Amino acid sequence: MVKICTKCNEVSPGGFRCDTCGGVLIHTSDARAQNLPDAVWKQQRVDYGARRGMIVRFLAIFAGFFVMVIGVRNSVGFDRPWSFIGAGASLAAGVALWWVIYVAAGRAVRIWVLRRGQLQKRKLARALLARR
Ligand SMILES: [Zn+2]
Repeated sequence: MVKICTKCNEVSPGGFRCDTCGGVLIHTSDARAQNLPDAVWKQQRVDYGARRGMIVRFLAIFAGFFVMVIGVRNSVGFDRPWSFIGAGASLAAGVALWWVIYVAAGRAVRIWVLRRGQLQKRKLARALLARR
């Protein structure tokens, strides 16, 4: 459950008081939170997007490493020179997988940040229409 500080607009993963300034935390769904400037929301989305991208990139290292290890292990069973070729190909595949996820994560962050902005505007418009 994400809460937002009414004083410094810092988000917190819960609680009643802000860790940064001691201000009162409110739910992001709170009416007062909706009155916070758009720039705050945009900044939070960028922060979350960047953090998410970093996690994906971190996992990409493991995914690439996993492919390398499995590939090299399987290549050992082949006769020479295929064992060397297989091991080399596995290393290349691991690096390629890491790179693909790394690039995709960067794009996903941009799309995610933009899409969230559009969704929120649409949701806000619907909420406004429903009240009338
Ligand atoms: Zn605060």
